[in-house]
Amino acid sequence: MAQIFAYIVHKGGAVDDTAAELAVAARKIDASAQVTAIVVGSGSQLDAACQGAAKLYPQVWKFNSDALAYPNAEMIRKLLTKMVPADAIVLIPHDTFGMDLGPGLSIKMDSAYAADVAGIDGVDGNTLKIVRQEFAGMAHAHLAVDISKGAVLTLRPGAFQAEKGAAGAGSVTDKSGEAGDLSAKRRYLETLEAEVGDVDITKADVLVSVGRGIEEQDNIAIAEQLAEAMGAVVSCSRPIVDAKWLEKSRQVGTSGKTVKPKVYLAMGISGSFQHLGGIKGSPFIVAVNKNPKAPIFQIADIGIVEDILEFMPALTEKLSG
Ligand SMILES: Cc1cc2nc3c(=O)[nH]c(=O)nc-3n(C[C@H](O)[C@H](O)[C@H](O)COP(=O)(O)OP(=O)(O)OC[C@H]3O[C@@H](n4cnc5c(N)ncnc54)[C@H](O)[C@@H]3O)c2cc1C
Repeated sequence: MAQIFAYIVHKGGAVDDTAAELAVAARKIDASAQVTAIVVGSGSQLDAACQGAAKLYPQVWKFNSDALAYPNAEMIRKLLTKMVPADAIVLIPHDTFGMDLGPGLSIKMDSAYAADVAGIDGVDGNTLKIVRQEFAGMAHAHLAVDISKGAVLTLRPGAFQAEKGAAGAGSVTDKSGEAGDLSAKRRYLETLEAEVGDVDITKADVLVSVGRGIEEQDNIAIAEQLAEAMGAVVSCSRPIVDAKWLEKSRQVGTSGKTVKPKVYLAMGISGSFQHLGGIKGSPFIVAVNKNPKAPIFQIADIGIVEDILEFMPALTEKLSG
């Protein structure tokens, strides 16, 4: 079986939730694999991230360079192509950076590429069986990937549930001296922090999140009344922001905010991976949707098949009464 490598995303010294998810996915490919975590960056934050990764992986390769302070897919593609055996399996989170890094890496490694992998059914000889979701999660596609010449897989954030208490004590090896040429045509200029807006949904314990099921702008008030009765904050899916019914600062998802509430009420939200990608920390999810086959029900703790325009006022009345 080929060696497995996991590319670790980290920020401010803390590894992203996807680091643990990649470890789970690696075990589904090969339960006995000694998976290597690759952590790139610079300075003390890199050291902290390596320590975080070592709790999840038996071995961690650290690459420390000022050039790697900001993740540059062009540089990291070069680095991985040099360091990783050509027949290796490389796991990367399917976030915007992973979408930039993965395809080109597979071309450079001349290996197979599978994007947005949501499930792994195991390996049969040189065939890796994977699952992807199609039609906004309404259908599952089972695919066979030829891994005889290695593979690059980008894995959907949140699809592989991290095991609690699965921590180990791996070793960190500084491989910075072997990184080779880290020049790139692409240059880092600056980081622009997104505006926080009138409320900071990332700090809320309870979110009442509305999607296209809210139907029209005037109905946002129904969600606001429920949020007030619950001591919650209103957030939303992207179509609501696109329609200018709520500010961008209220959007949950891969191109919006990452939230970590204790309770998440998904009201008329279908459950696209771009939306779910913004919900972290395993909150208790209550989904209300008219369509019993809506993908959100696959991850909800409680699923209610109901019209939100009837459900929300009724709940507000109960809570206020
Ligand atoms: C690059 C990219 C980035 C993206 N980033 C984000 C992101 O950050 N956040 C995000 O949310 N999306 C994002 N999207 C969009 C995403 O793909 C989905 O289109 C979006 O999440 C769908 O929003 P929704 O669930 O509100 O709408 P829909 O998918 O249209 O779902 C509406 C749901 O409401 C239900 N419904 C309708 N009426 C009612 C009713 N009266 N009562 C109860 N249920 C009802 C329907 O059954 C349906 O399930 C992104 C897309 C791309 C391509």
